[in-house]
Amino acid sequence: MPDSETPNPSDTNPEDSGDDQIDEVVKLDRDRSKYRRPASETPAPVDVSPDVGGNAWNRKPKKTQPKPAPVPEDQSQAAYIRAKRAQQGSRQTVSYLSKRLTSAGLRPVSKYGQNFLVDLNLIELIARSAELTQNDVVLEIGTGVGSLTGIMAEQAGAILTVEIDKNLYQLAGEELRDYPHVKMIQGDALRNKNSLRSDIMESIRDARARLPEEGRFMLVANLPYNVATPIVSNLLHETPPPDRIVVTIQKELAERMIAGPGSKDYGALSVWVQSVCKAEIVRVLSPNVFWPRPKVESAIIRLDVDHERRNAIPDLQFFHQTVRALFFHRRKFLRSVVISAFKGRLDKSVVDDVLATLGYDEKARAEQLALTQIGELVEALRQAEIKAAG
Ligand code: SAM
Repeated sequence: MPDSETPNPSDTNPEDSGDDQIDEVVKLDRDRSKYRRPASETPAPVDVSPDVGGNAWNRKPKKTQPKPAPVPEDQSQAAYIRAKRAQQGSRQTVSYLSKRLTSAGLRPVSKYGQNFLVDLNLIELIARSAELTQNDVVLEIGTGVGSLTGIMAEQAGAILTVEIDKNLYQLAGEELRDYPHVKMIQGDALRNKNSLRSDIMESIRDARARLPEEGRFMLVANLPYNVATPIVSNLLHETPPPDRIVVTIQKELAERMIAGPGSKDYGALSVWVQSVCKAEIVRVLSPNVFWPRPKVESAIIRLDVDHERRNAIPDLQFFHQTVRALFFHRRKFLRSVVISAFKGRLDKSVVDDVLATLGYDEKARAEQLALTQIGELVEALRQAEIKAAG
């Protein structure tokens, strides 16, 4: 890239490329009963924070409307679980969802990435992988018809769920009306590709403050493919950062998040995610478990944020932007990429000094560097820039 083409991280997204060829079989999960609430407890919404007057959102269920879960009061726990599950399972089928949408005059909207999960086992696996407790605050982006939301509502202390589609927002509102600790927002979760809309994090901070301190903040969602990268990337910058992210995303994106140096999938997204999280793929999902079927495979990925590692990065914004710039032109040598990225900020001689001090010759490329090496390089460049400015 010539010097004049210095990447502006806000205009480019090198985290959006790559492909993969891994082929795995979807295994259904059978052990789902242990996270269900015992029959002795009411299936109605939980008042998670009586000290602050109600629940984490200070919302009350709409008393005039019928309850969606008519489970007999005198049944055993196993029977309760079977009945509740049968009810949810029957809602999580292609025929139920298509009838539900058709009766409301709707169809899945592909521009919003509306591929609904139609396997209750997998929805439960997403929720279970998050290991929710009633002290936790969950952000869900993409309410859909509220299937995952409803399952998580039985486990979490507070849920903020965001849906861009007005029609689905209304439909899901009917499903979720009896959960006062579920707050719904209608609109685009992203303010722009570099940030989430601000009221999301305001609400999360509010809910965190109302719930016990040991509670955690998590993003748990079946994310729309087209905005999955900015949602995950941006959330890792936020205050508070999430403690955990469990999301269904395109498989190739998940592969890029966990890729290591030397692999074709290794790039800015791998470095950013792994510099602040422990990342693992929980399950690869065939297109068959979605309706409508997407063209590609998906994966449930779990990211556990390592707060110590994240806190050790002196300037997260600088770190992320520099990492993106380093991988902007993968085929270029590190020296020319750094010179280009720091044009007008660092002299070439300073860049050469930094690279020489770290032992990189003119043939070095960013894609060969391990996470720690990239961390050292970014910090050396940051220090050099501070020195140059001072
Ligand atoms: N949670 C549901 C499920 O698991 O079946 C639906 C998931 S579907 C893959 C993604 C959902 O995200 C859709 O309902 C879509 O309308 C919504 N969506 C798409 N883009 C969005 C955005 N920028 N902000 C909020 N919601 C969005």
